[in-house]
Amino acid sequence: LPEDGLEFRDLFLKSCEKADIPTTLLTRDEALNLEPELNSDLLSAVEVPDGSIDPFSLVIENARDAEKHGASFLLHTDVRSIQVDKDKIIGVRAKDHFQGEEHIIDTRYLINATGAWANRFLNLAGLGLDMALSKGSMIITNQRITQRVINRCRRPSDGDILVPNGLVSILGTTSIRLDYVENFEVTSSEVALLMKEISRMIPVIQGTRFIRSYAGIRPLVLPEEKEDDRAISRGFALIDHEKRDGLKNLITVTGGKLITYRLMAEKTSDLLCQKMGIQTSCSTHLKSLPGKGKPCDLKERLKEIRPALGKGGEIICDCEIVGRKELEDSLKKGDLKDLQDILHRTRLAKGTC
Ligand SMILES: Cc1cc2nc3c(=O)[nH]c(=O)nc-3n(C[C@H](O)[C@H](O)[C@H](O)COP(=O)(O)OP(=O)(O)OC[C@H]3O[C@@H](n4cnc5c(N)ncnc54)[C@H](O)[C@@H]3O)c2cc1C
Repeated sequence: LPEDGLEFRDLFLKSCEKADIPTTLLTRDEALNLEPELNSDLLSAVEVPDGSIDPFSLVIENARDAEKHGASFLLHTDVRSIQVDKDKIIGVRAKDHFQGEEHIIDTRYLINATGAWANRFLNLAGLGLDMALSKGSMIITNQRITQRVINRCRRPSDGDILVPNGLVSILGTTSIRLDYVENFEVTSSEVALLMKEISRMIPVIQGTRFIRSYAGIRPLVLPEEKEDDRAISRGFALIDHEKRDGLKNLITVTGGKLITYRLMAEKTSDLLCQKMGIQTSCSTHLKSLPGKGKPCDLKERLKEIRPALGKGGEIICDCEIVGRKELEDSLKKGDLKDLQDILHRTRLAKGTC
């Protein structure tokens, strides 16, 4: 945009070249042709092979894949205490915060992968980790506004990204330093800021209806204090607590970004195997993501559901094409404890309705 100038664009182009990311420089008209809702004041645009994922299915497909390999999950269950015996963790106590059920779990090895909660988790074992907690808020429109992810071409700052996700678009984000990891909320000033900034890129935002907002906390591991949390490294920390604290069977993995999650898992598995004396290296990075090939766009979902419709099948949520059978199947699994568990698995009611 005119107020951003072209200096950052040129730096961005050079950096992409260094990182081997292909770019196409677009004129104003070419950009508007691809994405008609862009602000027509734009000077130029850069097309890169960016993309977005559905985080709900990514997490669930990974969990299902892990279950096939012998893992089990306790939903809505927190580790509340850690039992240490000399230089080893011997067990944890966990509590289901819906049903109150307590679990005592013996541990041969314990991996702390609690994201922004990593320091609080370590406190249970008398340890700690210097982290910055950076809240980011997002708002969701009732319709998909662009076909592509649109990023403002300037140094990272508030309200500089619009991400299409299925039938809706997500506007992000803010960055606010917090001292705590619980009870954080999206404030009205953040919503106003996001709308103001993003409507510079996409003017139609000013008159768009919003259906939801949410916030998350970025787990940033602190190498040193810096002014803006976005400047803190998004690299991840993998800590062998045997080396750092003399606790033999504890590993922490935190920081990073969702985009690096497979690399984080790979390095963590390799470290665990090394500690267990197992020679095999992690191989998941050579395999396709779990869930590959599952229908994700609405046309494909409709095709999948259609055969059941003539035989008493029913669509429960028109916006996200969720069939009665899919909903009943997920209820039958029995491990779901609240409404969000169902919505995350089916996308029921995640759209305009
Ligand atoms: C606003 C925002 C925008 C972002 N945008 C992007 C982006 O565009 N691209 C990108 O790649 N990344 C992005 N990220 C970063 C990404 O979301 C995080 O890096 C990622 O979610 C971290 O994953 P994680 O599994 O380490 O932690 P989390 O996803 O936070 O998972 C940690 C889990 O541990 C659980 N837990 C905590 N304490 C305990 C306990 N005592 N016992 C049991 N369980 C516990 C928590 O409930 C939680 O489920 C963004 C983050 C935010 C906040």
